[in-house]
Amino acid sequence: MKIERIVTTRIALPLRRPHRLAMATLTDHDMLIVQLFTDEGIAGLGEVSIIPHYGAETPGTVQHIIDACLVPALAGADPRNLMQIHARMDAAIPGHAYAKAALEMACLDCAGRALGVSVATLLGGALRQRMPALWVLGHGEARRDIEEAQSLLESRSHRLFLVKVGKGEPAENVRRALDIKQALGEHASVRVDANQGWDEATASWCIERLEAGGIDAVEQPVPAWNRAAMQRLAARFTVPIMADEAVCTLQDAMAFAGEAAADAFSIKVSKHGGLMRARQVATVAEAAGISLFGGTMLEGGIGTSACAQLFATLPSLAWGCQLFGPRLLKDDVACAPVSYDAFDLVLGDSVGLGLEIDPDKLRFYQVPR
Ligand SMILES: [Mg+2]
Repeated sequence: MKIERIVTTRIALPLRRPHRLAMATLTDHDMLIVQLFTDEGIAGLGEVSIIPHYGAETPGTVQHIIDACLVPALAGADPRNLMQIHARMDAAIPGHAYAKAALEMACLDCAGRALGVSVATLLGGALRQRMPALWVLGHGEARRDIEEAQSLLESRSHRLFLVKVGKGEPAENVRRALDIKQALGEHASVRVDANQGWDEATASWCIERLEAGGIDAVEQPVPAWNRAAMQRLAARFTVPIMADEAVCTLQDAMAFAGEAAADAFSIKVSKHGGLMRARQVATVAEAAGISLFGGTMLEGGIGTSACAQLFATLPSLAWGCQLFGPRLLKDDVACAPVSYDAFDLVLGDSVGLGLEIDPDKLRFYQVPR
C-alpha cells in the first residue's frame, strides 16, 4: 500500500459558549483536517486542533509544514509502516509535533481500515471502554462556572472539573477556584490549570491556599522552561503538581521523571507528535511512578477518537481524560464514535478511527489559506 495523495483543509468550528483560558478566549476553534489517499483505495483521516498561544505552532504553520515539507517526504510510503513514516518525517524536518501527529493519525486510520481493526488494537489493545471525562469551566466567573458545574453534575455528565487560572489577579484566581470547590463539595473533583501563568513565588502563594481549600491537582503553574521551580513545588506541596506544556518530547518526560519535577503528566497526542510518541511518554511516566491524565487540545471528532483510542490502551489513567471537545463544539465535520454516559466517555467499536467526513460541512467550515 502506498500513499498517493494528502489533502489538508483548515477549518474553524463554532463553540457552544466562549471558552476562557489564561492565554486566549475562544469563540470558535481552529483545526486542520488531513485526508490521506492510497493506491489501494483506502483513505485515512487526521486532525490537529490548535489552541492559540498554547505552543509555538499555528494552523498556518502546521498546514505549511505538512504541505511543503512532510507530504513530499511521505510520497509512496506505506501508511501501515509507522516506524518508517516517523523516520521519513524526522529526516525531512526536526520538531513540528502537531504536523507529524496529524499525519501519523491519518496513517493509523488507514492501517486500521486496511487490517479491519481499531487504532486501539494497532496500539496493543484497549484495556477499558469507559473513562471518567473532565469538563473545563471556562466562563472565568465563579457564579456562572458553579451553575454550569451543578447542571453537569445533575445530568450525570461530569464530576471532574478544571478551573482555568493563571490570568489576572492571583488572589481572585484562588478565590474563584475555592468558591467553586466549596459550592460543589465532595460531589466533585476540582483541579486548576494555570497554563504557565504564574512565577514561582506567586505559584507558592496560590498553591498553599488551593491545597488548604481541597483542590485536587495544580496543572502547569509556572512557565514550561522552569523545571527547577516545578521540582521545588512538587517537593513542597502535597497536592499533586501536573506538568502539561513542559512535557512534550520523550526527553522532557525523561528529565521530569529523573528530577521528580512533577507528580502527574497531561498526555496530549499533538504536543508529543503522535499517538505512538504519546505512548512512549506514558511509558516513561509509568516507569517513574508518575500518574497520567488524558489531556485535550479541544479536539473534534477525529482527534477525540484518536486520543480516546490511545488513552484506552494505557495501563493506568489515574486522572481520567479531558476529552470534552465534542461537547463544547456546536458542530463538526465528522462525528466521533464516542458517547458520554454516567460521568464517563464511552468508546465505541470502530475500524481505524471509525469516522467519515461530511464533505458539505468540510466546505462550509473551511477557512481560506
Ligand atoms: Mg493544561
